[in-house]
Amino acid sequence: MTDKPAGRSGEFALIERFFAPLAVALPGAFGLKDDAAALGPSEGMEFVLTTDTIVEGVHYRGSESPGSVAAKLLRVSLSDLAAKGARPLAYMLNLALPKTVDDAWLEAFAAGLAADQRTYEIALAGGDTVSTSGPTVLTLTAIGEAPVGRMLRRNAARPGDILFVSGTVGDGALGLLAADGRLPAAPGFDSSALVRRYEWPEPRVGLGPLLIGGAHAAMDVSDGLIGDLEHIAAASGVAADVHCAAAPLSDAAAAAVALDPTLMTVVLTGGDDYEILFTAPPEARSAVMRASDESGVKVSEIGEIREGEGVRVLDADGRPLDLPQTGYRHGR
Ligand code: ADP
Ligand code: MG
Repeated sequence: MTDKPAGRSGEFALIERFFAPLAVALPGAFGLKDDAAALGPSEGMEFVLTTDTIVEGVHYRGSESPGSVAAKLLRVSLSDLAAKGARPLAYMLNLALPKTVDDAWLEAFAAGLAADQRTYEIALAGGDTVSTSGPTVLTLTAIGEAPVGRMLRRNAARPGDILFVSGTVGDGALGLLAADGRLPAAPGFDSSALVRRYEWPEPRVGLGPLLIGGAHAAMDVSDGLIGDLEHIAAASGVAADVHCAAAPLSDAAAAAVALDPTLMTVVLTGGDDYEILFTAPPEARSAVMRASDESGVKVSEIGEIREGEGVRVLDADGRPLDLPQTGYRHGR
């Protein structure tokens, strides 16, 4: 970083003040005072790596609280690790900052990271900081570990598997609509829980590692339940049926759908769920339920894997549905 914007510390001061405290729990980060960090997996484990970039004005508005931007940046990567059955270890943080980002913003951003580091037991290993004349660009690379060769894959679903999803679906996509003022208003309907879920996803870090051994295929639901299920079906060379009525909805999502039943399409195809979609054979059902109990994360059976290809969404009578609003068609 060369020229130092007004209201912001120089690069070294900024790292020392805001980021070095986030690296204290990781001895191999050397207090962010060296060129690189050193890290090894635990015995019998291997690294699982994932990275995400968000751009102001594209992936977030810029008017959000810096703490919620930090939380979302970290949590979407933690959700990827969870879906792969990996336990979080460390993360790298690359920041391209315009002059408008000052120390106050960075302080609140770092405080958001600090809070989540405690919740999810992860620490900062390093990163890079540059100035830009464009919008803020934030990249986070998360490093986790899973037993060697056992990372949960998208391509391992088998005919006869049960299809499961963690938590609830639709809250994030409905929350985005609510934040834009595009959900129906009605007395007694409170959309604040949906907006909160959109801004503060809840990665299922406790559940994911417990699915290794029981689950066949797994993936993070970030682009919408049905679209992401199509990825599992395609990668595994199988077909999937989803029972619309079995989709787990939060109270707020159920209230929104009751006001406008067409919102069910948003629930099934909207994004930002950050739940784990996974398959397991019927004999692993009790192991899956134990993993759910142990992690305190609800798990619901929402369908089955069959021979064939594509995804069908079935109504309460088992009839295939088209989901027209978003262009999703069964058998597409
Ligand atoms: P380089 O000259 O190799 O780019 P830097 O001076 O940028 O090195 O970085 C010095 C140290 O500070 C390194 O340990 C690096 O990982 C760390 N660092 C720089 N920026 C960040 C950041 N945004 N978050 C965490 N660590 C950072
Ligand atoms: Mg640098």
